[in-house]
Amino acid sequence: MTGHVSPGSFTGTSPVWLREPSDANALVPVLWPRTAQKVDGALHIGGLPVADVVANVNTPAFVLDEDDFRFRARAFRDAFAGYDVYYAGKAFISTAVARWVAEEGLHLDVCSDGELTVALRAEVDPKHIGYHGNNKSAMELRRAVDAGVGRIIVDSFVEIERIADVAAQLGVVQPVMVRVTAGVEAHTHEFIATAHEDQKFGFSIGSGDAFEAARRVLESSSLELRGLHSHIGSQIFDTSGWEVAARRVLALHARIASELGHALPELDLGGGFGIAYTTQDDPADPAVLADQITKIVTGECAALGIERPHLSIEPGRAIVGPSMCTVYTVGTVKEVTLDGGASRTYVSVDGGMSDNIRTALYDADYSCTLASRHSDADPVIARVVGKHCESGDIVVKHEFLPGDIRPGDLIAVPGTGAYGRAMASNYNHALRPPVVAVKDGAFRVIVRRETVDDLLATDVG
Ligand SMILES: *Cc1c(COP(=O)(O)O)cnc(C)c1O
Repeated sequence: MTGHVSPGSFTGTSPVWLREPSDANALVPVLWPRTAQKVDGALHIGGLPVADVVANVNTPAFVLDEDDFRFRARAFRDAFAGYDVYYAGKAFISTAVARWVAEEGLHLDVCSDGELTVALRAEVDPKHIGYHGNNKSAMELRRAVDAGVGRIIVDSFVEIERIADVAAQLGVVQPVMVRVTAGVEAHTHEFIATAHEDQKFGFSIGSGDAFEAARRVLESSSLELRGLHSHIGSQIFDTSGWEVAARRVLALHARIASELGHALPELDLGGGFGIAYTTQDDPADPAVLADQITKIVTGECAALGIERPHLSIEPGRAIVGPSMCTVYTVGTVKEVTLDGGASRTYVSVDGGMSDNIRTALYDADYSCTLASRHSDADPVIARVVGKHCESGDIVVKHEFLPGDIRPGDLIAVPGTGAYGRAMASNYNHALRPPVVAVKDGAFRVIVRRETVDDLLATDVG
C-alpha cells in the first residue's frame, strides 16, 4: 500500500515520523538516484564522488544522475505502453534533458515560450509537444502553431478564439485538447492541488463550461478537438483521485459523443505522481499505477458503453525529482536551545530558498546526508537553513545529522530535481546553481552557474 503519513504530532524537537537512524551515514535508497552509494562515507553518484564534481563547479550544485533519469523515463514509457507519456518540462527542462526525453521515446509538455524554445532547440519533434498554460498570448500561440506543436491544451473561451484565429491566419488546422476541472481534491498539500473548481485552470465540468468549450472548438474549422484533459494535482500517492476524476471526465466525453455526435479520440489524465522526499512517502511503482489507472478507465468506458480513447499522462516530478540532488557546503553550525530545554542544531549552507523554494512555499519536507566523509559521532536533530534574509529560508526542516557536522562539510539533499532549479530565483542576487549530469564516472555541466555578469546584464543602470 502506498501513502503519505500525515505529519502528525511532534515529540520534542522533531516530528514523529522522523526516526533516529541506526547509522546516520547510510542512505535511504528510495530517496536517492539509482547509482547513489556511500563509499567510506563519501556520496558517489554516477560512479564518482560528488565531492569531485563540486571541486570543479563549486557549491551549491544540482547533480543529475543521467542513468536514473533515463531509467525513470523508460519505466513510465514501458509501464504505460500504448499511452503517450508526456514529460512535464516545467519540473525541469534543459536542452540535454529534452533530448533524453525524446531519445527515450517520451513526448514533452511545455507551458511557456521559453520552454518551447528549449524543446525546439533540442530538436524535439514538434508533433510530440503539448502546450499548456492558462494565459497564452496571441504571440505565443502564433509561435506554437507555426512550430507545428502536436496539441495545445485550451484553458479559456478567449483562448479558443485566439487559437482559431491564429490557425486560420496560418492556414492550418490545430489539434487541441480541452482542459477540464473535475472538482477533485487530490490528497496533497492544499497549495499544490489544482482541480478544485475554485481555481484558475480549466473549464468546470459541473458548470457546463467544459461542454460548451468542446462545442465551440468543434464549431471552429481551424481547430481539431482531440479530447479532454484533466490534471488533478501533484505529489499524489493514491489512484482514488484519478478514479473520481476519470469517471466525471469520461461522463462528459460520452455526453459530447451522444449530444454533439463527436467521438473524441483521446483523453489525457495529467501528471502528479508522487515521489519520496522523506521516509514518510511510499510511492507506487509506475507499473502498478498504469495497471490501476488503465483498469479504472477501461471499466468506466465499458459502463458508459463507449470505446476507450487513446490515453496520455504527464509525469514531471516522478521522472526528474529523484534523479537529482543538491550539494551544499556547510558554512556555520549553531546550537539553539528551545522551550523546554531541548536543542536544535542549525546548519547553514551556501544556498537556500533561491535554489529550493518548496520548503517555504509548500511546507515541503526534505531529507539530507553528510556527503563528504564518514562520521562516528552520535546523530543530532538538525535543521538545514539557507543564507537568505528570511527566517523561513529553510531547506530541510528536520533531519538527524552526525553531531560533529562542521563548516566545510558537504551536505546533499535528495529529491530536488523537480521544481528546484526550475523555480530557482536570484533572491539576494544569488547566482542560480549549475546542473551537472553524471554518468559512468564522468560529469558534464548541462546548465552552468550564473555569473555576476549574467546578473548585471539586465541591470541597465
Ligand atoms: C504540473 C503539471 C504536470 C506535472 O505534474 P507533476 O506533479 O510534476 O507530475 C502535468 N500536467 C499538468 C497540466 C501540469 O500542470
